[in-house]
Amino acid sequence: MEKMIITVAPTGAQTTRQHTPHVPLSPKEIADSIYKSWQAGAAIGHVHVRDRDGNNSLDLDIYKEVIDRVKSKCDIILNLTTAGGLKMSDEDRLRVCELNPEMATFDAGTMNFGKDVFYNTPNFLEKLAAEMQSRHIKPEIEIFDVGMIHNTLRIAKKELIHEPYHFQFVLGVPGGMPATPKNLMYLTESIPAGSTWSAIGASKDQLTINTMSILLGGHVRVGMEDSVYFKKGELAESNAQFVERIVDLSNTLNREIATPDEARAMLKIPRNSNMGVK
Ligand code: ZN
Repeated sequence: MEKMIITVAPTGAQTTRQHTPHVPLSPKEIADSIYKSWQAGAAIGHVHVRDRDGNNSLDLDIYKEVIDRVKSKCDIILNLTTAGGLKMSDEDRLRVCELNPEMATFDAGTMNFGKDVFYNTPNFLEKLAAEMQSRHIKPEIEIFDVGMIHNTLRIAKKELIHEPYHFQFVLGVPGGMPATPKNLMYLTESIPAGSTWSAIGASKDQLTINTMSILLGGHVRVGMEDSVYFKKGELAESNAQFVERIVDLSNTLNREIATPDEARAMLKIPRNSNMGVK
């Protein structure tokens, strides 16, 4: 099996200090958490940012502070969210591309998300795909339900997304596919040959989906965006703690961990020297 890429998602859009006192929220806290996760073995850091009050934000200056802080310390790949939450405007979401990240998220369809709706209209997705393609940003295609794979392939037919595709299967979100082995298998069998994939299990399903991904040859995402609990009833103290556990588990199961440069080669990400430049 090829080496395994670990993504850390330290903050997300839903996790608050009410859920855990350990979630990083300020640019410095987020950057430090990504750096410590890189030391533990993460190759990709998935970045959400917050304003001073802890609210979701797509402010480019806040992103830039995180990017600069991380890039001054390590070579981890940064994958910026283009969602930022469920209520952001299409214009603000598209503007994230101006930071020229190596990767950014591409949420491949509209869905119910808990009590809200996560809008990703066909028109918006085509604009986002075109913007990412023109800037050579690698899309992390987030798949919450199988129809979203086909949304992506329809956009690919218009030559707005090109192979090799990298999918992130997000299982266990209320409104998306439940986190079951059968669903994960179905998704892995539904993507074009030559694609790479990673998977997320939300909340209590994080570790089980992570373990299946290790065994099936996929890649893994962990972090407080997906779950704040290290074990039932026990909060994780840091994001690096989740990464360390995956590295231990992968060693036990004979799966080697990819460095950021190995991950760039595997995902065919060109090194983006304009990163963070507006
Ligand atoms: Zn995210």
